[in-house]
Amino acid sequence: MESVAAFAWNGWQASSGISGNLGLEYAALYEAKRQGIKRIQCFTENLQVQLENHLSIERGLRAALANDEFQLLLQPQWRLQDQVIFGFEALLRWRSASGDFIAPGEFIQVAEKTGLIVKIGEWVVLKALSYLETWTKMGITDVGLAVNVSPVQLKTGHFADFLERAKGALQGRPSLLEIEITEETLLEGHDDELSVIKDLERIRTMGFKISIDDFGTGYSSLQYLRQFPADVVKIDKSFVSTGGVCLAEPEICRAITMMADALGMGVIAEGVETKAQLTQLIDLGCPHGQGYLVSPAVAFDEATELLLKR
Ligand code: C2E
Ligand code: MG
Ligand code: MG
Repeated sequence: MESVAAFAWNGWQASSGISGNLGLEYAALYEAKRQGIKRIQCFTENLQVQLENHLSIERGLRAALANDEFQLLLQPQWRLQDQVIFGFEALLRWRSASGDFIAPGEFIQVAEKTGLIVKIGEWVVLKALSYLETWTKMGITDVGLAVNVSPVQLKTGHFADFLERAKGALQGRPSLLEIEITEETLLEGHDDELSVIKDLERIRTMGFKISIDDFGTGYSSLQYLRQFPADVVKIDKSFVSTGGVCLAEPEICRAITMMADALGMGVIAEGVETKAQLTQLIDLGCPHGQGYLVSPAVAFDEATELLLKR
């Protein structure tokens, strides 16, 4: 094993350069930066494995884009009172060469680090728009679709332009498409001379909806919520279900619901798995849910059947 070291120190960074192997030095440097400032990281076998894994996913993702190996599944969002579906969240899957579906947790990070998320994210939006167009042709015009958007996509500064060009497909009903961002996006948006926040405001002015995903797991800064009023807050599933029958954190669910209400925002509880959780959520005033209790994410045809059965 070659010996390689990298340093990240108060914004200053360096790799030793003694190995002549840029890949290894990059891996050590990246790890040093990932772990925070004031770190010295030696290259280890573990890092070698991570680097190889990263490179293999990166190669796979490039091929996946070229060979149409992605699929966009849809998970219903429903009124808690009667479980009537009013929308779906679009969730990405990657069909590997062996035919298995790979969940985003295994590849989104690499897609973000390599910038491939920009092209993948555009594919997601165009696919979602094509689903909405098909429903419109079938006379289904009251069902929205939410897509997850990475901070990396917003930081390019071109995402709002992309949506401006793409929105023609919605025939004057842009509110059918919802952009899901995380609290991290709002925080980083402020570091970025407000350009991300400005783009989000422009996206909202164009008529798209914006929701804050996984609310409560990030910075939960009320200051940002005040400055950037989103349309919907999604209570993170860790507050709803951790495998038990009852709500994992009822008081946090109640507090987020009351906060969203007071700020005039909609609220959706993620990860609703049991009837007991459903009842508790209704009792504490939460109007909407998403989770395995009603359905996991399904293919477009199955989602359409669910809509026709409403
Ligand atoms: P998310 O946006 O918070 O999506 C919800 C995740 O919870 C999904 O995992 C969904 O399958 C899972 N889930 C839904 N109902 C339940 C439930 O009742 N119990 C439990 N335990 N889990 C439930 P998935 O599809 O693996 O996606 C994971 C994350 O990957 C998403 O979290 C989102 O952050 C990201 N992601 C998914 N699709 C995309 C995409 O197109 N672009 C980007 N940038 N990120 C995506
Ligand atoms: Mg989401
Ligand atoms: Mg979520």
